[in-house]
Amino acid sequence: MAAIADLVFFLVIARAVFMLARGVMEGLNEGRPPAPPVTGGQLVRDPVCGVYVTPSNALTLPSGTGTAYFCSEKCRQAWRKP
Ligand SMILES: [Zn+2]
Repeated sequence: MAAIADLVFFLVIARAVFMLARGVMEGLNEGRPPAPPVTGGQLVRDPVCGVYVTPSNALTLPSGTGTAYFCSEKCRQAWRKP
């Protein structure tokens, strides 16, 4: 009957690993930055740091595809000089 005991042991370990992995995945999901609010005016994404800003408050710089928006002068400088 050793084979059945080994199988049960394996299943218990596999389940524990699965539960642990799922817990880690959920932890990673909780660590994600919140999605930008979609209500109200549109938001634009700072291509340097990834922060969402409102165009009226953002610093701008003309780019090949239109206008790039930045949260700060630091990001705009970084975009201008990669
Ligand atoms: Zn920025």
